[in-house]
Amino acid sequence: MNREETLVKNFQDVQAALLAACAKARRNPQEVTLLAVTKYAQDRDVLTLLKQGCITHVGESRVQQALARWTNPVFAQFHTVKHFIGHLQKNKAAKAARLFDFIDSVDSLDTALAVERAVPAGKTIRALVQVKLTEKDTQSGLPLEQARELARKLKDLSRVKICGYMGIAPLGAPQAELRNLFRLVKRAFDEDFPPGAERHLSLGMSEDFITAVEEGSSLPRIGSRLFARNLEGL
Ligand SMILES: *Cc1c(COP(=O)(O)O)cnc(C)c1O
Repeated sequence: MNREETLVKNFQDVQAALLAACAKARRNPQEVTLLAVTKYAQDRDVLTLLKQGCITHVGESRVQQALARWTNPVFAQFHTVKHFIGHLQKNKAAKAARLFDFIDSVDSLDTALAVERAVPAGKTIRALVQVKLTEKDTQSGLPLEQARELARKLKDLSRVKICGYMGIAPLGAPQAELRNLFRLVKRAFDEDFPPGAERHLSLGMSEDFITAVEEGSSLPRIGSRLFARNLEGL
C-alpha cells in the first residue's frame, strides 16, 4: 500500500473499531464523532484524509500552528469543525476565539472569560471543561469536583457555550482503572449535562478510545492511530 492508501486504511480501521465499541455497548454510532487530532500530522497526510472526506472534526494543540494551517486556502476550502485541545494561555485567547469552533480544554474561569470577550459577533464557541484524571502534576485540567464547579460558573456565559467535559486518561493504566475513571466522568457528565441539550463527552485517545467509547465518550480524540501508524518509509 502507498502512503495515501495506508492513511485511508488507518481511518477505516478506526471507524470499524468505533462501530464495534458502539455495538458492544449498545450505543447508537450516530452519537459518536471522531475527532482527528492533526497536531503532529504532516500537511500532506491531513489533506489526504480531507480529500477522501474521512475527517470533519479536527483537533490542534497550538494556536499559532493551527492558524497557519487552517487559514491556508488549501485547508480552508474544506469544511471542518476546529477543536482546540491544548493548554490555552490567556494571551492566545483572542486568536483562538477567531479560529476555533470548540475549546475542549478549558481549565480556568479567567481564560474562559478572555475567550468570551474575544468571540467575534455572531459566533458561538462550544467549550468543554478539562477534567484531570491523574494525580500527576504535569497534566492540565482540574480535579473532577473543581471541574464541575467551573462548568456551573460557565453556564452564565453567552458566546461561550459550555457543553461537557474532556479528559486525558493516564497512559498505560490497567483496563479496570481506566474504566472506573471514565465511568466517574460519565456519571458527572450525565448529571451536569442531561440529555436534551447539546452535550459532548470527549474521552479516549489512540490507546484507549475503545474503552472510552464503551463507557460513553461521544468525541474520542485520535492522532497517532490515524497519522503515524504503518507510515514509516512510505
Ligand atoms: C495529542 C493529543 C491527542 C491524540 O493522542 P494520540 O494518542 O496520538 O491519539 C488526544 N488528546 C489530546 C488532548 C492531545 O493533546
